[in-house]
Amino acid sequence: MSLHRLTAHELAEKLRSKEVGCVELINDLYSRIDAVEGKISAFNCLTKETALKKAKELDDNGFNGELSGVPIALKDNICTDGVETTCSSKILKDFIPPYNATVVELLQNEGMIPVGKTNLDEFAMGSSTENSAFKTTKNPWDTQRVPGGSSGGSAAAVAADEAPLALGSDTGGSIRQPASFCGVVGLKPTYGRVSRYGLIAFASSLDQIGPLTKDVTDSALLMNVIAKYDRRDSTSADVKTPDYKKSLVKDVKGLKIAVPKELMGEGIEENTKKAVLEALKTYEKMGATFKEVSLPSFKYALSTYYIIAPAEASSNLSRYDGVHYGHRSEKQNDLMDMYLNTRKEGFGPEVKRRIIIGTYALSSGYYDAYYLKAQKVRTLIKQDFDDTLKDFDVIMSPTTPSPAFKIGEKVSDPLSMYLSDIATIPINLAGIPAISIPCGFDNGLPVGLQIMGKAFDEETLFRVAFSYEQETKWNKRKPAL
Ligand code: GLN
Repeated sequence: MSLHRLTAHELAEKLRSKEVGCVELINDLYSRIDAVEGKISAFNCLTKETALKKAKELDDNGFNGELSGVPIALKDNICTDGVETTCSSKILKDFIPPYNATVVELLQNEGMIPVGKTNLDEFAMGSSTENSAFKTTKNPWDTQRVPGGSSGGSAAAVAADEAPLALGSDTGGSIRQPASFCGVVGLKPTYGRVSRYGLIAFASSLDQIGPLTKDVTDSALLMNVIAKYDRRDSTSADVKTPDYKKSLVKDVKGLKIAVPKELMGEGIEENTKKAVLEALKTYEKMGATFKEVSLPSFKYALSTYYIIAPAEASSNLSRYDGVHYGHRSEKQNDLMDMYLNTRKEGFGPEVKRRIIIGTYALSSGYYDAYYLKAQKVRTLIKQDFDDTLKDFDVIMSPTTPSPAFKIGEKVSDPLSMYLSDIATIPINLAGIPAISIPCGFDNGLPVGLQIMGKAFDEETLFRVAFSYEQETKWNKRKPAL
């Protein structure tokens, strides 16, 4: 039996009924990784020894949590005690954190088993994993193409059956865009829903950790594990977490869907539009209605993001100075020299670009014109969403303007790379949740449907996504590897 093909909830079921042992399951997964990792390059490091040890303990002592014994891959910007956490950057190569991120603690309490750390664009800045200092991950549907980014390693690992599920982080689309490119389910929770403690910061007012999974059920189950108030994160929201399993019902009768015309027009490829329109018709068949709306501030979202995110990044990344941790340059005549050479050698070109843009936007004399203005526009974008969600239950759009692009196609053109997040970025600016689910194929490449909802209403997203998945089962298709 190919255990690695199963979803997390199917695996958990088999473990509980003792149909398979946890050691057997972990061994099967690492054999799968051995077989395909050469083609995919999803992982920066694997933790087989500790995973097997944990599996043995569980086999001996039994499974308590709903997802006990289920293996999980972690994006390599989530701190793991004793295990390298590199952000796919030379500046953090060989960095071993002395503590676990809150989400890692929560997974461990549940009895889940981390199997390795996945590749990303350096410091999560990018949309293809090509900005990783170590390697480019390949899309399992076509290895000439990118898996998306920045959580490309996590998405590819799940799509290639190298992990039943994974955690990613999403600042401007880094969970949803790779989920869409790799044909898996990716959720960006409401800002504040999942603790960021131990997530290496990119842009703190936008970053959020979330699940990448093979189906909507797994996404809900994983959220049940990681969505908890955490006093160690001052932006963690002290709100009650519902049992997301209860949202897994097929029912969209009377559901009102808004479709922003700004995301169904120019710049969106025809076949992508067609797949999304088909999905909307499927919802209609199931009893929902959809209507075109306009969110006028949408057009400013990309430029707003590319002020706010680099500004916050420039501040967050000032801590990599060669003193406390990470890389330190050998070339040093004095302290200033050491700072300069450390950062010159340690950061890649995209990270340097963001630091320069961000520092400029925050500098005195320009702050009002750029950063402050961007914050005001951010409020307008949020208002557009709030207004629309007063009259509608959810908003739907393509997750990305096109399916996965070719490796090398956009690396030398940052602007066209930035445009691949045009549909995902506004959601981070507004702080609301959104999920990407597979909704069809364009010449063998997956297309993603993005469903956006009200803040702290992940339940509606799960119900709406689950209903569609039950009706269509696009997620059952697998890449031929
Ligand atoms: N691709 C976007 C960027 O480069 C978003 C990245 C992310 O969500 N981490 O900033």
